[in-house]
Amino acid sequence: MRPTGRLHLGHYHGVLKNWVKLQHEYPCLFFVADWHALTTSYEDTQVIERSVWDMLIDWLAAGVDPSQATLFIQSRVPEHAELHLLLSMMCPLGWLERVPTYKDQQEKLADRDLATYGFLGYPLLQSADILIYRANLVPVGEDQVPHVELTREVARRFNHLYGREPGFEDKAREAVKKLGGKRGKLYEELRTLYQQEGKDEALAQGKALLEEAQSLSMGDRERLYGYLEGSGKMILAEPGALLTEAARMPGLDGQKMSKSYNNTLMLREEPEVVTKKIRGMKTDTQRVRRTDPGDPDRCPVWQFHVIYSDDSVKQWVQEGCRSAGIGCLECKQPVIDAVLKEQAPIHERARQYEEDPMLLRNIVADGCERARKLASETMRDVREAMGLNY
Ligand code: SF4
Repeated sequence: MRPTGRLHLGHYHGVLKNWVKLQHEYPCLFFVADWHALTTSYEDTQVIERSVWDMLIDWLAAGVDPSQATLFIQSRVPEHAELHLLLSMMCPLGWLERVPTYKDQQEKLADRDLATYGFLGYPLLQSADILIYRANLVPVGEDQVPHVELTREVARRFNHLYGREPGFEDKAREAVKKLGGKRGKLYEELRTLYQQEGKDEALAQGKALLEEAQSLSMGDRERLYGYLEGSGKMILAEPGALLTEAARMPGLDGQKMSKSYNNTLMLREEPEVVTKKIRGMKTDTQRVRRTDPGDPDRCPVWQFHVIYSDDSVKQWVQEGCRSAGIGCLECKQPVIDAVLKEQAPIHERARQYEEDPMLLRNIVADGCERARKLASETMRDVREAMGLNY
């Protein structure tokens, strides 16, 4: 997640609650994408530091548990940059220009000069962020699926270019020559397997081929098996997208909750402010007087009830609003109560980190160390596969 300042309830319902769930189901890595913040905000870097720490507190406050998941900061794991650089050498320009968010963002952020090298390359930096941990799943919304697809293509291209033993083809040709009558077929099949399918498929089919090649001597069979096993290595794993259903959190005005619409309730908003903001929410504009009946479908407060209230409260709102049996302030109170109840444990967890910044720094230092260990293992294999481990 990019460090863009304190998080609001839209982030909580849309992303963080899902992370909290995922951390019990998978080994998870969650990181602050501070270099990504530079791709669009390179002119104003002062705000990044504060945002990084605020955001980490928000994650922990939301229930992300550092004993379950690894939390770290991207720039503390420089291997991300090294892998990004190496991938940039082999990533065709067209692949990056085709990413749908590229033109989209340039148009949306027309006030900034985004005709930069870093901005074009940011999906590839994302690919490096994923591939460096050999992640097999990335939790994303629909709009990010093309980025995961690009990552798969990049991994495939890398494995195709560097995933074979140097001189493999000559060795295989030589081995197959010794295999007798079936060599033509075997050679062709092996070549295709290594190039297209990768190691697992090659192994499975290779074993089947060996069964077929009953006329071979034991030595030849073993040799062939050795090539199958040692070649067509998957250096970088192709990740899949773990689609999360986008829980749309309405803002105070009924539009999507977003800082740019100025309609947010912050994750760690003070209870008095929450109360004041919700009490001040606009309601059905056609309900002018208390005695006028209203329609919840025209009212942003109803959208909050949809998220926070149980069936009996919802029924109370529907009937009370349409019959003018309840007033709008009365109607807002269960929403206020529910938001405050949701936030109570969040405030509670945040307090320890707000009071003791070292606690947070230590958690992040541990996370960075764990991440770096994983990243450096991948980079060792990447350098070796590319012939750069001199
Ligand atoms: Fe909205 Fe509730 Fe007022 Fe109806 S009673 S207009 S749902 S705040």
